[in-house]
Amino acid sequence: MKKQVCVVGILVILAVAVGAVYILGLNEGTGSFDNEGRYDSTVLNNMGVIYSNQSDIAHWNNGYSESDVCPWGAEHNGLDYMFYNNSPVIAAAPGVVEDIELGYLPDSTIYVVGVTIRFNSTLTHQYGFEGDPADEVVRVQQVAMLDVEIGDWVVKGEQIGRFLRPTEFDHIHFAVYFNQAICPRLVMGGDDYNEIMSLIEIFHPGEGWELCYP
Ligand SMILES: [Zn+2]
Repeated sequence: MKKQVCVVGILVILAVAVGAVYILGLNEGTGSFDNEGRYDSTVLNNMGVIYSNQSDIAHWNNGYSESDVCPWGAEHNGLDYMFYNNSPVIAAAPGVVEDIELGYLPDSTIYVVGVTIRFNSTLTHQYGFEGDPADEVVRVQQVAMLDVEIGDWVVKGEQIGRFLRPTEFDHIHFAVYFNQAICPRLVMGGDDYNEIMSLIEIFHPGEGWELCYP
C-alpha cells in the first residue's frame, strides 16, 4: 500500500512537471504579443520616417553609429530628428503604445518624454522628445502635446504628437530596438530609406553621409 501511494505520487509530480514545460514552451514560441489582426507583425522592412514634411526639420546632425568613426564623432544608438517647434511627429511603424516615460538624461538638464511603441514581441520603436531645460513645467507642456496614451494602437504615419522646441538644439532621439538598438535602415522600406537620405542630403550636400555607421 505504501509503495502504491509512492508510485502515484511520483506520477502526479511527473505530470505536473511535463505540463509546466509544455506551457512554458508554448509561451516562448508565440510570445505574449497579439495585435488582433491589425497588421502583419512579421513584415520587418516597412518602417518609415517620423516627419510628414522635410520642411519641419531644422537640421540633421546625428545618425546611428556603433563607434566614434562617423561624421559626428561619437557612438549614437538612434537618429536625431531636429524638428521645428510645434511640428507634427508621426509613427514610423504601427504598434501599441507600451510606455510613456518621463525623465532626464543623466548628468544634464535635458528632459526626456519617451514614447515606446511595440511592433511585435521583439521589436519596439522609441521616440525620445528631448528638450532643455530641467523645468518640469516645460516637460508637462510637451506631454500635453502628445496625441497618444499608453494602450493606444497607432498605424504607420499616424500623428503621435507635436514637438516642443525650447531651444534650437532640441530634437527627437528615435531608436529601434530588436533586443538591442539596431540601425533603423535594417527595417526600413526602400522608399522610406530614400526619403531620409534625401533629407540628410539637404543639410550635408555632397558630403556622402550615411544613415548608420558600424
Ligand atoms: Zn540622439
